[in-house]
Amino acid sequence: MARLSRADFLKVSALALGWPAAGASCTSASSQSSGLRIEPDLILVNAKIYTVDPAAPRAEALAIKNGRFVAVGASSDVRNLASRRTQVIDAGGQTVTPGFIDAHCHVSGVNELFGVNTNLRTVKAIQDALRARAAKTPPGQWVTAFMFDDTKLDDGPLHRRHLDEAVPDHPVSVGHRGGHTTWYNSVAFKLAGITRTTSDPEHGRFFRDETGQHDGRVAERARDVFANVGIRETFTAEERRERSRQGMRHMSELLTAAGLTSVHDAGASQAQLTAYLDAHHNGELRHRAFLMMRPYDHLRDAGAYTGLGDEWVRIGGVKYAADGSASERTMRMSTPYTGTTDYGILTMTQEQIHEAVDEAHAKGWRVGIHANGDVAIDMVLKAYERALAKWPDADRRHRIEHCSLVNPDLVSRIRKHGVIPTPFWTYVYYHGEKWANYGDEKMQSMFAHKTFLDAGVVVPGASDYTPGPFEPLMAIQSMVTRTDYKGRVWGASQRISVDEALRVATINGAWASKEERHKGSIEAGKLADFVILEKDPHDAPPEAIKDITIVRTVTGGRTVFPKEPAST
Ligand SMILES: [Zn+2]
Repeated sequence: MARLSRADFLKVSALALGWPAAGASCTSASSQSSGLRIEPDLILVNAKIYTVDPAAPRAEALAIKNGRFVAVGASSDVRNLASRRTQVIDAGGQTVTPGFIDAHCHVSGVNELFGVNTNLRTVKAIQDALRARAAKTPPGQWVTAFMFDDTKLDDGPLHRRHLDEAVPDHPVSVGHRGGHTTWYNSVAFKLAGITRTTSDPEHGRFFRDETGQHDGRVAERARDVFANVGIRETFTAEERRERSRQGMRHMSELLTAAGLTSVHDAGASQAQLTAYLDAHHNGELRHRAFLMMRPYDHLRDAGAYTGLGDEWVRIGGVKYAADGSASERTMRMSTPYTGTTDYGILTMTQEQIHEAVDEAHAKGWRVGIHANGDVAIDMVLKAYERALAKWPDADRRHRIEHCSLVNPDLVSRIRKHGVIPTPFWTYVYYHGEKWANYGDEKMQSMFAHKTFLDAGVVVPGASDYTPGPFEPLMAIQSMVTRTDYKGRVWGASQRISVDEALRVATINGAWASKEERHKGSIEAGKLADFVILEKDPHDAPPEAIKDITIVRTVTGGRTVFPKEPAST
């Protein structure tokens, strides 16, 4: 949007309301006297607003009508727009930014609501959680836990015998938060028929301790043998749908409590699409969703393509995965992990990537392919380059999910073809104990927000929750300091400023979903998504940005956090 003079201020507001521009270009004072009243639903005054609009980066007040900003400016001017029915909030000098946008997240909520959360720091705490669930579980039925993190135990490593001590009579699985490895107890091994002499399958591994016994940890496709053994809790189709809706409601509360107003779902199933729609129709969806479908055949074959939906639930693209994980140390690189000869794994061939990209690109879909390592990123870029040469599209904005380890050649090709990388944004801070496996030299080129910004690439940020925490203020701290929770610095050359981090967290996320004309900054005409922060992250000590309190989150003019504010 072009730079506006004060005199143009209400013209834009009027356009936002769908009024004709003629006769509307007047000052706020004359608008009141001429009877041209905007009558905003909500006005926020006395705030320190970072608009992320380069034409007018700072403001004191904003007005909202029908879910969109209609005025942004000085408190005295905006206050004049209030009518008797306008709710006026005095921000008391607190800081306001556009609502935060997470460009890659896995949003279900079913585990969070109904599963056993083992994001715990001792073996005993994990045992207690499993024991408590087993006590309420019929004999022979699985006890299933999630969110375990193998590198964060005070008294690890977790071993199969710990699970046996806690739960001797039920099969148990404890899933890693990264999604690539799971721990099982002896009942589960027995049900699956896995013995000491069982060999590893081609795309997986049964890990062993120093005595040669299985230690319980199982990776990738080796986990397939546990899928159809033992008794699973069963649900009718209606029950599954209801649980998914409740999960979505729960996650939407958590995400908006952290200040997120838009979240890109990086792998939504057909059932999850229904969960978004169910939650939205029940008024329970507090954030906007941009869905990358996995699989997408049902929609593609119905003739749908990228862009279908509305400002709340939109079909964004199709999602694939071409290599391993950063946090679980399996991504495919051109150089090995520190002190090993392990280069990581690929999960797609070049030919498979070409086929997937050609098919989706030709049918009007945006593509997002998980590629962490430089080898995988190169393969994905080759496919995008080939498809764009065959079917040119200057603004398709295909995505490379994570795009963790880059080099100058990859960055210049990403820039040239308008590709969107979505690097992890909470990982440096939260997963610090894992980066020694890469070493600081590699970390200078990993999660490379600074490199992308300097190259002119519009780079958003991404949590990949559950693998990473989704809190955007932790993300801003992580990108600004490149310092982990124990104070170790990883890849200091990738540090960015608070202002740059704010852009990454807002307008660049909007660009990544091709919705930058509708959100990502506080400008008249855009969707009224914003957060009020207790403190200004520019003024806070960088190591305390993550502790700033979210005072209020507003999506489309509606306060979605706190859940039931006293003032509305
Ligand atoms: Zn992911």
